[in-house]
Amino acid sequence: MSIKVAIPREMLEMIQESARRLHPRETILLLRGKAVKNVITISDVLIPPLATYGRRFSAFPAHMLPMDFSIVGAAHSHPSGNLRPSTEDQNHSIGRILLITGFPYEGEQNVAAYNRSGERLSLEVT
Ligand SMILES: [Zn+2]
Repeated sequence: MSIKVAIPREMLEMIQESARRLHPRETILLLRGKAVKNVITISDVLIPPLATYGRRFSAFPAHMLPMDFSIVGAAHSHPSGNLRPSTEDQNHSIGRILLITGFPYEGEQNVAAYNRSGERLSLEVT
C-alpha cells in the first residue's frame, strides 16, 4: 500500500515562503505530523537546529535533533526548479518522507513528495 501525504495549504505556504526568502540558497525544514494507515498528515513545520543553507545543499547535524518520533520527514527547496530528489537528498533523508519545492515556489505545481527510496508519492494540499 503506497503512502499518501496530506499537507494543509498554510504549511505549504510557510515552506515556500522560506524557500523564496533564502533563494538562491536552499531552505531546509523539518515536518512534524502523524501517520494514520497509509496517510501521513503534516501538522507542523519546524526550523532544524544549527541548519546551514547552501547553494547546492542545505543540511543540519542530525545528532542535534530531539528524540521526537512525530518528525515524519523534511522539506527543502531546489533553486533550479527541478523537483526530483538528488542522490544526496536520498542519502541524507530523515523520517519517512521527503518534500521538495522548486523555484518559483508557487503552489501545488512547484512541490512534490517522495519516500526514502525516491519514489514519488501522491500529495494532497488540504
Ligand atoms: Zn535536494
